[in-house]
Amino acid sequence: MKWSKKRFTFVIIPDANSSVKRVHISAVVLVFIPILFLILALSVIYLYLLYHNSAGSISSLRHKLSDSSSRYERMLADKNDSIESLQTQVAGLSEQAKSIQRKMDEVDKLENQVKNMVGLPSSGSSKGDAGGAEAVDGLVEDGDPSDGGMGGEDLPVTDAEMTALTTSTRTDLAALGPQLEQLKQRLEQTKAAVAAAQKALRTTPTIWPTDNRRITSLFGVRKDPFTGKARFHAGIDIAGSVGDEVYAAADGVVVHSGRDSAEGNNITIDHGNGIRTRYMHLSRLIAQVGDKVEKGDVIGELGSTGRSTGPHLHYEVVLNGEPSDPRTYLKATRKVGE
Ligand SMILES: [Zn+2]
Repeated sequence: MKWSKKRFTFVIIPDANSSVKRVHISAVVLVFIPILFLILALSVIYLYLLYHNSAGSISSLRHKLSDSSSRYERMLADKNDSIESLQTQVAGLSEQAKSIQRKMDEVDKLENQVKNMVGLPSSGSSKGDAGGAEAVDGLVEDGDPSDGGMGGEDLPVTDAEMTALTTSTRTDLAALGPQLEQLKQRLEQTKAAVAAAQKALRTTPTIWPTDNRRITSLFGVRKDPFTGKARFHAGIDIAGSVGDEVYAAADGVVVHSGRDSAEGNNITIDHGNGIRTRYMHLSRLIAQVGDKVEKGDVIGELGSTGRSTGPHLHYEVVLNGEPSDPRTYLKATRKVGE
């Protein structure tokens, strides 16, 4: 009989009163059960080792994941900081663009003030060209931030708002270049115009030829002090004392400096543009023919030479050969340049 066909009989005796039980088990089963147990035990050990290994890997993976995630968080935070900083810079640029625009408007005003000072008409403002620089979607206020208080809700800026601000800032900045160029050209024109106006002013007899401002005889028809007959008085007589300084009423060239029986010691200055001034009855001639004189220069001293009843200055303004009332020119004080 082959051993695999053998059967073993186990006798089980529960206790004295129960009957004996017999269990028949084949030899094959008896051999395979321990082998099965061994395989099972080995499998369990293998699985345990496998699990142990995996647990290590999982833990290290989890660590890595946590590391990367905190690194990404840091990167994200950095990026957010950068974005916020860029937003702040855009907002700053926008403010600067507006500030430059305001300053240009101020320059416009100053330019007009300068023009008014020399009697030139005001020019148009460059403000109209700034139309393209207006706020987009009403996001950007065009007012001066220093106009009033700031505050209220402090909400984070949305992407759309940032885009709008960036666009409007770019437009503002792009508009500034041509506007500055225009302003520069206009200021150059104004400078030339002011220089011309100043030259005209310097060659216009606007100042008093004496420190004394008392007019003793007006321009026009009057009774002659010697004959009592009606005569035309071609200038004004200004009171004063012998030796008082007599000033050139404007820049010009002395075209006459000499003595005459009626006019006494007298000087004529040509100021160009058909304007001449004449100074008579001087006690002393200082400026000579050919002298270039400036407004306010002392040209002689007041006196009573020639046909004169007492010390005074006979002062004439001649426009294109015709006597003109000097008082229409005398608006300012004697100070040079006014
Ligand atoms: Zn006179």
